[in-house]
This record gives sequence, structure tokens and C-alpha cells, in this order.
Amino acid sequence: MVRAENVHKAFGPLEVLKGIDLEVRTGEVCCVLGPSGSGKSTFLRCINHLEKINAGRIWVDGELIGYRERGGKLHEMRDKEIAAQRRSIGMVFQRFNLFPHMTALDNVAEAPVQVLRESRAASRERAVALLERVGLGAKLDAYPGQLSGGQQQRVAIARALAMRPKLMLFDEPTSALDPELVGEVLDVMKDLAREGMTMIVVTHEIGFAREVGDSLVFMDGGVVVESGRPRDVIAEPRHERTKAFLAKVL
Ligand code: ATP
Ligand code: MG
Repeated sequence: MVRAENVHKAFGPLEVLKGIDLEVRTGEVCCVLGPSGSGKSTFLRCINHLEKINAGRIWVDGELIGYRERGGKLHEMRDKEIAAQRRSIGMVFQRFNLFPHMTALDNVAEAPVQVLRESRAASRERAVALLERVGLGAKLDAYPGQLSGGQQQRVAIARALAMRPKLMLFDEPTSALDPELVGEVLDVMKDLAREGMTMIVVTHEIGFAREVGDSLVFMDGGVVVESGRPRDVIAEPRHERTKAFLAKVL
């Protein structure tokens, strides 16, 4: 479903990604771990072309992201094409980014109407079902300011799902939450994984990675230091940098 080959990204002189390779098969959950500044968020943003890459290639569901290949050369796609690709990739951030002036229901129902041209009635019906699925059937009419962080993050997940993504990207979705609210968000993500969603999850929740992840990737300094089955990497990290990092978060 996702394939990254030799992805490079620099901000001016700062090389942030120095040749990332990664493969995630359909229905799999890939957890990405690594110290602050190692390039995790940048890599996620490259997958939906929120950042342009300087070299390498990324495919999602067989489609080259952001570029067309002609005569061996890459040409950046037009904005419209990029937007179309992005639509099938859901993203959930550390901060919830809900529209503050809209109810939970409207937050979830809006994009399918605007972007997918779904009828308002159908979109609302589906939004209700999605909010029920994330345990918020009783909060349809609440505004983000009236919801806890964990509830807001679950609305954000429902909102991403409303676009019927084939891939979900999570960037530290629980790290801004009070500890007692982390579990409810991870539970929603676990359900999603169980239902077969392909997911890339940047997280420091080692328990989640071990239980739900099909693969674990440890990044440091813009490279993948090691990857493998979560159990194996966590129990027996091969590299000093992985060991040092795990010692801190475990
Ligand atoms: P954290 O765990 O703190 O979220 P991260 O692994 O997600 O870290 P990134 O956010 O990808 O790290 O940042 C990697 C490096 O790239 C950092 O040094 C950061 O300062 C730099 N960086 C990220 N975005 C930009 C930008 N738009 N312009 C310049 N530098 C950037
Ligand atoms: Mg980050």
C-alpha cells in the first residue's frame, strides 16, 4: 500500500531525511519511533506531499505521490491532482485541528459535502455512524471547546475517516493528551487496525506498537536505524541508538 524509496528531504542546508526506505502492506500497521527532530513528522508529511521531496519516490496504492514520470524524469503534479491524491490519505495530528465554530457532527460531515460532493443528508448520516463508532454518539452537537482532548481527537479521527481514506497517517495522536485520556484514543485506533485499515503511526506508545503494530521502524537523524517486528525490535534492539532510545521511553 505504501512504498518509500530513498526519500530525501532538506530544508535549505538542513538535511532532515537522508534516504528513507519503507514498505507497508495493505491492512498493516507500521509504527514509527524516534527521538525529537529525527524527521518523523517530515516523513509523514512527505507521504501526502505536504512536503516536496528532494529525491526518491513514494507510492501509495500503486500511485506515485506528487509526481508524474515522463521519459525517466519526474514532473510535479498540478495542485488539483495532488489534492485528489491527498483525499485518499487521512491524517491525524498531535493537535486536534477541529473547526472550533462547528459541532462535532458538522466537523465530520463537512468535507464529504464540500470535497466529495456527497449529499448533506447522506454525509450527516454517515457522520453520525462514524461518531458512534468512536464512542461519541452522545456528543454530536457538542462544540470542540466542550469536549475533552481525547474526545476531540476521536472527532478528528472520525473526520478523517469520513473521507474514506485508504491509508491513515497518525502523528503522535496521543502525546498532547492527559494520561487518562490516552487509552480511549488508542482503543479507537486499535479498532481501526482490527478492521483492516492500513496505518502509519508515529507514536511513543510502546505498548500500542507491540500489541497492534505489524512493523516498527526506528528513525534517528533522518535515517531508518532499524526496523522489524515490534516485539523483536523492542525486546532485542540491535543498534545502540535504538537501545538508548527505548531505555528512555520504556
Ligand atoms: P518530534 O518528535 O519533536 O515531533 P520529528 O521527528 O517529528 O520530531 P520533524 O518535525 O520531522 O522531527 O523535524 C525534523 C527536523 O526538521 C528538525 O530539525 C526540524 O527543526 C526541521 N524542520 C521541520 N520542518 C521544517 C520546516 N518547515 N522548515 C525548516 N526546518 C524544518
Ligand atoms: Mg513530529
